[in-house]
Amino acid sequence: MILVLNPDILAAELENLVLVMNKFDLEHEFVQSSPNQIVIIKSDTDKLSSHIFNSLDGVSKVIKLNSPYPQTAQLKAQPIELPFGVIIGQESMPLLIAGPCSVENREQIRSISKQVKAAGAHALRGGAFKPRTNPYEFCGLGLEALKYLYEASRENQLPVISEVMSIEHTEQALEYIDVLQIGARNMYNYELLKFVGRTGKPILLKRGLSATISEFLQSAEYILAQGNAKVILCERGIRTYEGATRNTLDLSAIPVIKQLTSLPIIADPSHATGRRDLIRPMSRAAIAAGADGLIIEVHENPDKSYSDAKQAITPSTLSAIADDLQKLHNLFGPDMDTSVSENAHLKHYALTQPAVLK
Ligand code: PEP
Ligand code: MN
Repeated sequence: MILVLNPDILAAELENLVLVMNKFDLEHEFVQSSPNQIVIIKSDTDKLSSHIFNSLDGVSKVIKLNSPYPQTAQLKAQPIELPFGVIIGQESMPLLIAGPCSVENREQIRSISKQVKAAGAHALRGGAFKPRTNPYEFCGLGLEALKYLYEASRENQLPVISEVMSIEHTEQALEYIDVLQIGARNMYNYELLKFVGRTGKPILLKRGLSATISEFLQSAEYILAQGNAKVILCERGIRTYEGATRNTLDLSAIPVIKQLTSLPIIADPSHATGRRDLIRPMSRAAIAAGADGLIIEVHENPDKSYSDAKQAITPSTLSAIADDLQKLHNLFGPDMDTSVSENAHLKHYALTQPAVLK
């Protein structure tokens, strides 16, 4: 519940309000949200009538709010366990997922898997079903690629992640893939979210191209609502007016999301920037901002990539990033404040919807 106070509330009115909140044992926090001061009541107010506050002098508005993503907000997320002893979440070492944008052929994926493993990656990525903006571009090898991915991942003891764009893809991928990726373009595909939720597999959910953080978390809620809490969120850049980069990596989304949910959040500097020269600096920045991991596109011969050539890095750059990750984890890891604030969605709402509070 949020109470909006009159800008000229009297000291005596404020005192009375605190008395009432204390009488009902309500934990609360005062927040300055220009022009009004607001009070966020953190305790459960389900059984409390808004009338108690509506009738108080100095209180101009009472907003009863339920979180639009209750499970995502309240979950005490457990680390997600992947094959080969790889885990993501909580205080573990940031997860480094690497591999090509697309699986191009059997030899390519077997060879790059070996190289990303040697460079320090913990998991393998590779596109089998590619969501291309243009239908005449390489759209992936489909089922054949899933089989190659599985083989390459097992040869190199790497859990494997690949995107599915439909229910049919999901059914095909279940046998071969450890983490199902829902790409940015499908973050709003609610039937697909429900379906992947029901598989019980870990899901990597990417933020939509122009999705707000709240929409993003509501999409995660679709998966959790199916009883599947194994969701890894991924900030992959959003559409802005800036043309220097493919998208804009929304770094502040990482700590904001960390306040709102205990689900792990990783960053994708490849799709966020579209530029190979920016992958290393933005990887560092994302980890420093608190990301639980990175997903990066790597190719043996980046310029020859069938898709997203401009953002592909070499295995040797990946190796430098893996070193950065270790250093940053040693530096910041233990001090990162990753605690989810109680009822943080209320504060988020208060700070992002000032118009409603007037
Ligand atoms: C990808 O990871 O290959 C991809 C297409 O990413 P996104 O959905 O973020 O564009
Ligand atoms: Mn790509």
